[in-house]
Amino acid sequence: MIIFKACAISKIMKTMTCKQLGGSCDKEFQAKTFEKIAEMSKKHGMEMCGKGDEDHINAMKKMKDLMNNHEGMKEWMKSKQKEFESVPEK
Ligand SMILES: [Zn+2]
Repeated sequence: MIIFKACAISKIMKTMTCKQLGGSCDKEFQAKTFEKIAEMSKKHGMEMCGKGDEDHINAMKKMKDLMNNHEGMKEWMKSKQKEFESVPEK
């Protein structure tokens, strides 16, 4: 039964939007772990910035400011991870 349960958990996908992850649009990302979803949103953000999307460039600037502040970044990651964990499972 324990094995069965672990198997079920590994299939759970959670959804968060670009906006929820520090971006600026409503694009949805789906992943099983917070690390993965953060990675996806980062990739998307860089892509959009590469295209010259102003909203994403501004969002990226804000994230950069946050990253300069180590404690602030840690807190942000923690709160986002909590948000990710509290997303209802689909
Ligand atoms: Zn976006």
